[in-house]
Amino acid sequence: MYPPKFDYYRANSIDEAFALMGQLGDAKLLAGGHSLIPALKLRLAAPSALIDIGRIGELKGISRNGSTATIGALTTHATVAAASDLPAALTEAAGWIGDPQVRNRGTVGGNIAHADPASDLPTVLTALGATMNMRGLNGARSVSADDFFIDLFMTALGEDEILTSVDVPVDGAGTAYAKLFNPASRYAIVGVAAKVSVSGGQCTSARVALGGLTPSAVRAPSVEAALVGKALTADNIAAAAAQVGGDLDDVMGDIHASEEYRRAMAPIYVQRAVSKAAERAG
Ligand SMILES: Cc1cc2nc3c(=O)[nH]c(=O)nc-3n(C[C@H](O)[C@H](O)[C@H](O)COP(=O)(O)OP(=O)(O)OC[C@H]3O[C@@H](n4cnc5c(N)ncnc54)[C@H](O)[C@@H]3O)c2cc1C
Repeated sequence: MYPPKFDYYRANSIDEAFALMGQLGDAKLLAGGHSLIPALKLRLAAPSALIDIGRIGELKGISRNGSTATIGALTTHATVAAASDLPAALTEAAGWIGDPQVRNRGTVGGNIAHADPASDLPTVLTALGATMNMRGLNGARSVSADDFFIDLFMTALGEDEILTSVDVPVDGAGTAYAKLFNPASRYAIVGVAAKVSVSGGQCTSARVALGGLTPSAVRAPSVEAALVGKALTADNIAAAAAQVGGDLDDVMGDIHASEEYRRAMAPIYVQRAVSKAAERAG
């Protein structure tokens, strides 16, 4: 299927991208194109112009400052998957995205700006407590992952803003991602990310997020509360995971999986993610 006609522009810097955004009314930014081009072909979007930001060097790469890793918006999933000093939940999630072609072209920024409910990175970045950095004509701002993912394909990113990078805490906590994937695309039917810290044999903090089930990635506060203060034994993790149903409003059903099936799978994948994170937390 062919996309509707559009004019193509290439920006070589962030400033050039802003200048083009100012000139062109309903233009869309193009990064890896692995969500936008399918959306154009399906006529879900029909912008008159695309601004290709894919070659802007300052938006690429991973850097480290103390206990924070900063991932440029144009960093590909393949680069994240191969990184040695990022939380395990993030590298394993990136390594399970789509296929090698998708991972080599698709970008972290495009994935989270698009905010597909079945995408992996919104879930993982929510569990990790990441911060999204964006720039607009009126300056730069940062928004926590908890506040960034608002609804189905909807984020806190303004129409006139560019997501520049993501800050991820690298603090020694145990992290893991577990996903029940669509065998055709690898998108998540149920995806669960967990981050736990353990001290003196007890869980001192827990963040658990789910994706694939609800319009946007969500935290599981009941599960988190049931983990903190307990030893992370198999029984305690199973008991905490069993609470997840109460954290899930608005569970979706579609041709890939019914609402009931997604609800039934949620505690199993919570259990898997938390168990692996606990193992990694030592
Ligand atoms: C066959 C297939 C399988 C896939 N499987 C998975 C999977 O298993 N898990 C998963 O998570 N994803 C999956 N994806 C999606 C993939 O990860 C995409 O790469 C990603 O969702 C979009 O990134 P992109 O760089 O291609 O963005 P694009 O498609 O170029 O852009 C997507 C949207 O984000 C906007 N945008 C892009 N960059 C920025 C920026 N820096 N600032 C502001 N707005 C921006 C664009 O304007 C557009 O609206 C799959 C895709 C395909 C085609």
